[in-house]
Amino acid sequence: MNVLLFGPPGVGKGTQGQRLAREVGIVHLAMGDLLREAVRQGTEAGKKAKAYMDAGELVPDELVVRMIEDRIHNVQGFLLDGFPRNVAQARALDAMLDRQGLHLDAIVFMDASEETLLERLTGRLICRACGFGFHRHYSPPKIPGVCDQCGGELYQREDDREDVIADRLRVYREQTAPLLSYYRNRPVFGMVDANGGADEVYEKLLRMVKQADG
Ligand code: AMP
Repeated sequence: MNVLLFGPPGVGKGTQGQRLAREVGIVHLAMGDLLREAVRQGTEAGKKAKAYMDAGELVPDELVVRMIEDRIHNVQGFLLDGFPRNVAQARALDAMLDRQGLHLDAIVFMDASEETLLERLTGRLICRACGFGFHRHYSPPKIPGVCDQCGGELYQREDDREDVIADRLRVYREQTAPLLSYYRNRPVFGMVDANGGADEVYEKLLRMVKQADG
């Protein structure tokens, strides 16, 4: 099945998407992770994307559209997280799905209060080796600075600094929030309140996705 998760930064798309994709047996395609990997590897795409990412702005559409299209047709079922992030990208996604004879089985909008988002983003810690996410207060690692899953080093994302977070939330309101009107009338659309704890939110998402799977 093909699932699309969207919502503001810090709402839990990455954490929930990773867990959900594993349970359903599909590939988690997280645009931000793909871009950070491209930056780390120093590819042409990564070099172009870096300045936008550091500033909390969106990377140009043609670059992200190309990266996603490359991956979508090589997998059996995917969960998209962080793409599309504006209406032009959503249109490009519809067109590429059409070309490949694919469709979305579930489109889920996750939302939380701005207070929750800020708290989550400023406390977020990520494993450099496996990408697993922690939070300084809500889900701290057993040993400070060390990943429980793989022993890797934990770091704070450059763009999880308060000044960049403000820009990311503005970009979300201006460019990504309009996706709600783009998708909300589709039969496979659903909405999840993501203010609660991770397990509670996960149960809601799982129920919704299983229902979509028939
Ligand atoms: P994320 O990990 O989803 O928070 O994404 C981190 C950063 O990557 C964003 O602030 C953007 O600069 C960039 N990015 C991620 N997804 C997209 C996208 N679909 N379109 C443009 N830029 C993106």
